[in-house]
Amino acid sequence: MAKVTIEPVSRIVLGLVIIIIVVILVILLLVMLAAVLLRPLLDRYNRPADIKKAKELGDELASSKGKTFVAVVAHPDDAEWWAGGTLGLLASKGNKVVLVVGTSGEKGANVNGLNKIREQKQLEAAKIQGYSKVVFLRHPDRGLSEAPHLTEEIVKVFDQYKPDAVFTFDIAKEGPVYHHADHEAAGKAAWAAGPKYKKGLIYYLIHTSAPNTIVDFEPVKEKKGKALSIVTSYGQNALWMRFLRPVVRSSANRNNDQWYGGRNTFTEVGVQYGEVFRKVSS
Ligand SMILES: [Zn+2]
Repeated sequence: MAKVTIEPVSRIVLGLVIIIIVVILVILLLVMLAAVLLRPLLDRYNRPADIKKAKELGDELASSKGKTFVAVVAHPDDAEWWAGGTLGLLASKGNKVVLVVGTSGEKGANVNGLNKIREQKQLEAAKIQGYSKVVFLRHPDRGLSEAPHLTEEIVKVFDQYKPDAVFTFDIAKEGPVYHHADHEAAGKAAWAAGPKYKKGLIYYLIHTSAPNTIVDFEPVKEKKGKALSIVTSYGQNALWMRFLRPVVRSSANRNNDQWYGGRNTFTEVGVQYGEVFRKVSS
């Protein structure tokens, strides 16, 4: 019987290959485990202390008619992810919704001309959602904190459109897990712009760790699902994202094929499709 012998060099190579495969498998397993654990953690942080009161504040917002809302975000998918249901609902009730996007998100994937692609997708989503206007500020992606006159640009938008309330990122009580310097920059500038436009401006803060408002967006859930899939389908092909997404998607949607991004259920007040905010005034 012939004996198979392995050269010492080949053995080292084989050993290295096995080690690399094991390391990759362990990393993938950890990423999937983190994704499974992430959702319940997020759900917990997304619960207002007083659910009934939060639902009342959300109902009050959702009953707005003939008002103007400006959302200030960093990338062409932020608004749909965190507030797409609420903004779509407000637009469907005859309110004016103006979206201000700080960057065109060109670093979101390794795709040529991504800034134009993402702006186009944001415009498509805006049409579905019924926004009145999208203002692209076109600062460099992952460089919004260095944009020299961001606050002044936002004041200009406020002066032009005269919002009754503003949606932006919570910087004082930022939500858990995810931090992005561009989001912080958008939130900071929108917050600084408020008093320069008018005193006591109302804010609904997204990605917050201290929500006090629940909006039931079930009447427009299809719209949010469609808009969100448009703005997020631009080739996010990082390996970790490929594994993380299906897990986050499946747990976030539970019942059907639509994907709702920031969505929470509050059965005690009969809300299946809820978005949460921290309502404050400047
Ligand atoms: Zn973003």
